[in-house]
Amino acid sequence: MIHLVNMPYGSLTCPSPALGLIKSSLTQAGLDSRVFNLIFDFARLMGQDGYEMISLFKGTKTQVGEWLFAEQAWGRSFGPSEEWFLDQFERELSQKEGLIKRPQIPDMKSWLMKLRHDVIPSYLWQCLTRLETAGDLEVVGFSCSLFQTVSSLALGRLIKQEHPETKLVYGGACFHDVMGEELIKKVPWIDAVSTGEADDVVVPLFHALSSGRAPSELQGILYRDDQEIVSGPASHPVSTEVFESIPDPDYSDFFLDAGRVGLLDDYRWRKRICLAFESSRGCWWGEKQHCTFCGLNGKDIAFRAKSPERVYRTLANYERLYPDSICEATDNNLPENYLDTLIPKLKSDPPRPGMKIFYEVKSNMAREQIRAMSDAGMVYIQPGIESLSTHLLKLMHKGVSAIQNLYFLKCCREFGIFAFWNNLLRIPGERPQDYAKMASMIPSIYHLNPPYGGCIKIECQRFSPYFLGQAKGIKSLRPSPWYEAVFPPDLIDLERVAYFFDAVWEETLDDGAYREVMTATRSWLASWMERPQLPKLVMHRREDGSLAVEDTRDSANDGILIGTGSGTGDCTGDCISERSCKEWKLDDIEAAIYSAIRDPASAGKAAFKVSNVAGITLEREEARHHLRHLVEMGLAVEENGVFLGLALDENFKEIS
Ligand code: SF4
Repeated sequence: MIHLVNMPYGSLTCPSPALGLIKSSLTQAGLDSRVFNLIFDFARLMGQDGYEMISLFKGTKTQVGEWLFAEQAWGRSFGPSEEWFLDQFERELSQKEGLIKRPQIPDMKSWLMKLRHDVIPSYLWQCLTRLETAGDLEVVGFSCSLFQTVSSLALGRLIKQEHPETKLVYGGACFHDVMGEELIKKVPWIDAVSTGEADDVVVPLFHALSSGRAPSELQGILYRDDQEIVSGPASHPVSTEVFESIPDPDYSDFFLDAGRVGLLDDYRWRKRICLAFESSRGCWWGEKQHCTFCGLNGKDIAFRAKSPERVYRTLANYERLYPDSICEATDNNLPENYLDTLIPKLKSDPPRPGMKIFYEVKSNMAREQIRAMSDAGMVYIQPGIESLSTHLLKLMHKGVSAIQNLYFLKCCREFGIFAFWNNLLRIPGERPQDYAKMASMIPSIYHLNPPYGGCIKIECQRFSPYFLGQAKGIKSLRPSPWYEAVFPPDLIDLERVAYFFDAVWEETLDDGAYREVMTATRSWLASWMERPQLPKLVMHRREDGSLAVEDTRDSANDGILIGTGSGTGDCTGDCISERSCKEWKLDDIEAAIYSAIRDPASAGKAAFKVSNVAGITLEREEARHHLRHLVEMGLAVEENGVFLGLALDENFKEIS
């Protein structure tokens, strides 16, 4: 039997798609395999909350999850002192207050030291015993996504020590390209690595290793032959035909292992289960214009998508095998043609009514497309919003404007979609006014989905245009400092294994320039996380043609001035504090104009709509005058002559 291993910090609620895929490919080829989700055993030893905190944490100076396993992986201490490292970790963790749930651990440092020195050594022996008990250790495969590498190396080292004849093969995002080349060269217990997409070589690879042959001439595979490292042909992205034909991942072992630790009976765990499915690889937008910070696609950005029918069958299959799970696409960007194919099909014939599906999407979508996503069960998405400044978006090559992003967020709120996004800072070429403008706008958009990822400075990732020198902005680079604490620098060339780099940036601002937008974002997030009800700005149509705009964006305590109540709109005076209007009343003309900018429109287009829909004749300049008042009142925004009303339709759908 082939042993496939899922080590910390793989997710406790989402099975590894890579291992599930390898297992089903091997099964199809008649090879017996088992995925061992040793993540559950570790979570049981350290507590589920502690495990999840560590797996979600990513610092710039520390990476505590990898560090915990480093001593066991390399058999020695190295790098900065434990005291220093843990101080830095505490500092970085406190900066993520509210974004990562901190477990109830009175003395975090002592707890981490105990894990590193006592718990992990015995955990690794337990892992070995589990693998041995299941069958002879002929071939063991590890798939390493971010922050799974050192734990996998630590277990590999122990396996090799106890079973020198066992073949160990590693792959996954952390072994792509030179990262895998460096690790097989320097880590003697690794027998083979896959340095790229391996769908069409996975069966011959495991077949060769389990029958004692060299896995030679397989694209993207490097293997050890005595002390020599032998390379197959260079890795290349698999073709669309191969991609379409690969089987669905087999997640059965994940549920068996979850059952072993009693999670199947835990309702809270069950309702968080996400099953990854893959409908495309690469990125159709990145192929045209690669976002400057993005290293997500590795070297394989070429876009390939499965047919909508194939994806529908996968979702139906998941529902049959693992009912009631959330289905999460691993795609970097929803394929454009699915808006006309897969999504209508999911709406008209859902594998299960109410099935929830997650996708990452590009944010310049039309209202009807966003509605269609909601109708198809896509009520949790990750749009590539990244900023609410058109200048910054241009610098990042996002191909979208601030007003399009705001419109997207407004439509998501109207159709009950939760959008997870980050507000990115430190963009080469940025100007103070980019952030000042964003900060001043935030109080007027409290009712829209805030960036739950917070405000984060962009980092330099391997394979990104910044890293490759294809985008301007970097003077010099070095691996992020935490690599020195998890890979011994005297053995491993950190430049070749690192994915995250510390850069000396050019044309960026001092931290002070971000302060205002960070403070405003924190209040915005708090208004969503802490208030009993989400903030609202909602239009209510009256029979006389007027509009009442219900406004709970401000809270009495925030003290943020949203509107002045002056101009053509009136504050009704029914206020929850002196400075916060609760309802705005717009007369019939104002109401007609406001309705005309429900979708983004210029003053001319708004005037045209007003005369067409409400039969009121308005000159463009007159319309512009009214629109500017609405902007001053905080009920609309303007960018380059295009206006957008911020209020939601009264029939908006609550986020569930
Ligand atoms: S950030 Fe998203 S849209 Fe941009 S290149 Fe990367 S995957 Fe594509």
